[in-house]
Amino acid sequence: MDYTQFDFLQNRDLLLNKETRCQDLVEQYLQNMNKGAHLNAFISIMQDQAREQAARVDQKIARGKIGALAGLVLGVKDLITVEGFRTTCGSKILHNFVAPYTATAVQRLLDQDAIVIGKTNLDEFAMGSSSETSYFGAVKNPVDENRVAGGSSGGSAAAVAANQCMAALGTDTGGSIRQPASFCGVVGLKPTYGRVSRFGLVAYASSFDQIGPLSRSVRDSAALMNILAGYDPMDSTSANVAVPNYLHALDKKVKGLVIGLPKEYFSQGLDEQVKQSIDATARQLQSAGAIIKSVSLPHTEYAIAAYYILATAEASANLERYDGVRYGHRDTQAANLEDMYEKTRSQGFGQEVKRRIMLGTFVLSSGYYDAYYLKAQKARTLIKQDFERVLNRVDCLLTPTAPTVAFRQGEKTDDPLQMYLSDVYTVSVNLAGLPGISVPCGKNDQGLPIGAQLVGRPFDEETLLRIADWIESNQNLMTNRMDTENESIL
Ligand code: GLN
Repeated sequence: MDYTQFDFLQNRDLLLNKETRCQDLVEQYLQNMNKGAHLNAFISIMQDQAREQAARVDQKIARGKIGALAGLVLGVKDLITVEGFRTTCGSKILHNFVAPYTATAVQRLLDQDAIVIGKTNLDEFAMGSSSETSYFGAVKNPVDENRVAGGSSGGSAAAVAANQCMAALGTDTGGSIRQPASFCGVVGLKPTYGRVSRFGLVAYASSFDQIGPLSRSVRDSAALMNILAGYDPMDSTSANVAVPNYLHALDKKVKGLVIGLPKEYFSQGLDEQVKQSIDATARQLQSAGAIIKSVSLPHTEYAIAAYYILATAEASANLERYDGVRYGHRDTQAANLEDMYEKTRSQGFGQEVKRRIMLGTFVLSSGYYDAYYLKAQKARTLIKQDFERVLNRVDCLLTPTAPTVAFRQGEKTDDPLQMYLSDVYTVSVNLAGLPGISVPCGKNDQGLPIGAQLVGRPFDEETLLRIADWIESNQNLMTNRMDTENESIL
């Protein structure tokens, strides 16, 4: 039997009923990684350690004492550390950097008997929307290999979609979990800022970054969140807020929930078939008893500009540490220290990372700080207030995750602005620090996945998981309703 077709919780039942062994599961996933190696979803494969861990889990099962995530075969975005293994961030500058400690998020999963099978590919330092800027080559979308997997957690999304792992950790600074999840047809959750510890996550833009799960099913994401979420004294921005049992939220009920459709998210630039699919989802929720309301987030138009000013400003500061002295790559031909810094950084960083360091340094420089950085901070506040106002009246928002389905490899690599625009529906959520989930809600006429995004109140991941689970269970209904065009609510 091919166990890789099942989600984690199904596999867990099979393990507990002794219908399979964890070691056999791991072998099947390793085979799929091998077969699908051309997708380039993984930078490092940790087969020895995965086999050892699997043997240990099998022993524990035999003894009847196991963790909540026993048998979870996990991919970890290569921006998150695992002690003793390389953490490259998809960059030449860290291509040989071995992590001295394990990230809290990973450690919590390991403590519940999850098995890390490899480190997934990404845009260099998580800067991108297509997973094409990695030093280790582009990730291909398993649904259509001529297309991008989305980014920056494209390796994590592709690995889950191609059954190379059961679930994966990604990171989301402006959409990097949700957008690749949407492009590859899997579930991706970006938790509230502060909900999951960032200790052991290599910083891109510290006031935006969050770790979250990508999985085959909503309930798997809920199971992962039960363990990932919670306070960590090692992360000064970690929130000390009680963690509910997210699996209990999945009660298949949406009746009475109020769902807002922000009108700014359905205007120009949105692909017609994506729009129809979200419309069908909204109508289906309505017929199941949810209350659908049109709402407005008037400062949405400033989100992309504010995000790319603030995120690059933070990135330019965070990436200062890669100077050839303490981490990774160093130029050895340099004449003096200054020269070594310059050569190391020139050789070590790719084009997109350099572009962002320059942009970030520029917006922070004296004379321009007020005009760009400060103004962007003000826009961030206005965007946050828009959400606060609206989320007082509705339980959550429903939007497309991305304006299009997965685009072709190379289609946007020469046009950074076009690339940045593919984040138009996701970046605001990070500017406001809110939780967001992308759940598959349909396919276009070429069979390419479409994702619906749900955005909620701070620390209310439960409502998002509940509605996403409902959408997932009612996929077929949705596809049928797409044909009945004239009753659109958008
Ligand atoms: N695509 C966005 C960027 O390039 C978001 C990346 C992310 O979320 N890590 O910054």
